[in-house]
Amino acid sequence: MTHVAVRVGIVGGGQLGRMLLLAGPPLQISCTTLDPAAGSPAAQVGRAIVGAYDDHDRLAELAAAVDVVTYEFENVPVEAARFVETLRPVFPPPEALEAAQDRLSEKQLFEGVGLEVPPYAPVDSLASLTEGLERIGTPAVLKSRRMGYDGKGQAAIHDAALGEDAWRSIGEVPALLEAFVKFDREVSIVAVRGRDGTFASYPLVENHHRDGILRLTLAPAPGTNRALQGVAERHARTVMDSLGYVGVLAIELFQVGDRLLANEMAPRVHNSGHWTDVGAETSQFENHLRAIAGLPLGSTEPVGVSAMVNLIGTMPYRDAVLAIDGAHLHDYGKEPRPGRKLGHVTVRADDAEILESRLTRMQALVDG
Ligand code: AMP
Repeated sequence: MTHVAVRVGIVGGGQLGRMLLLAGPPLQISCTTLDPAAGSPAAQVGRAIVGAYDDHDRLAELAAAVDVVTYEFENVPVEAARFVETLRPVFPPPEALEAAQDRLSEKQLFEGVGLEVPPYAPVDSLASLTEGLERIGTPAVLKSRRMGYDGKGQAAIHDAALGEDAWRSIGEVPALLEAFVKFDREVSIVAVRGRDGTFASYPLVENHHRDGILRLTLAPAPGTNRALQGVAERHARTVMDSLGYVGVLAIELFQVGDRLLANEMAPRVHNSGHWTDVGAETSQFENHLRAIAGLPLGSTEPVGVSAMVNLIGTMPYRDAVLAIDGAHLHDYGKEPRPGRKLGHVTVRADDAEILESRLTRMQALVDG
């Protein structure tokens, strides 16, 4: 018997679009991406339309060529997603995109469904910042409500007297003041929900950032007990159910003892889920495609233990990376630039001890 081919449109052609696209062919799912750049990472490996995200002609061209549309980054204009929705189903729902684009709506969504969040105050003027600092105290972090990612549009406030500097440094735009959380570690949960409401979650992972950019993910997060995993899964599930979500969602959390405070969510496949490509029964990319295509979800069980190292700014020698047992390289085909994510390596092993020795060798290539 032949399978019905499913055609998926992906708004965005970065590395996430590229990895989604690559997961399709074994399931007879063919993807077309839309990106403003002609040589985008996704365009190098599959069909692509070149156009701006808010260009209705190009969006309509994409919609006409596919059965269902998704997106691979959260700054796709909500208006564009709503326009496409008049032509084809769009998953995850544009409501999820809308909530994730505004840190205040995101916090309100989390609180509304019962997730714990760091103390915060909306800020839209110097006076409201002063009020917020009185209530929340220092240290605190001032974050622009919109277009913030990888630590951009943020300013730490260690002394209330320096609030004005922080307000100016983020450009005096609508913002959120958050208490600085003295977390034990940063973790994230990547989960997937199908069109029929079925839910599956990957294990919690431990994330290490430098300069606001993810550097290393350990999967599963070492030392996680079932109770903590259960809390994270319930968080993901309630957020997804409340949005009628379809596809993969990631929630970044601060762990403080046995509490998990929600920081932010990404309505898409996520960098902290890249390890699943080789370290889980089914990758986040395949599961996202399965979900939006209405196919059964695949097992999210880890296969051994993994460490994902982001390659930022420069690439290590390919031969040296591949000489490490259990190392899997993905080069996104981007021009090197300081601070740019150029690729990642997932190192997999059957136990933590072997993983550690492989990871040490890998990190020497990246840091050295
Ligand atoms: P974000 O863009 O919100 O993900 O923030 C980037 C990084 O800044 C996070 O991964 C944390 O390492 C740090 N950070 C953000 N918000 C807070 C907070 N309220 N308390 C402590 N660290 C934070």
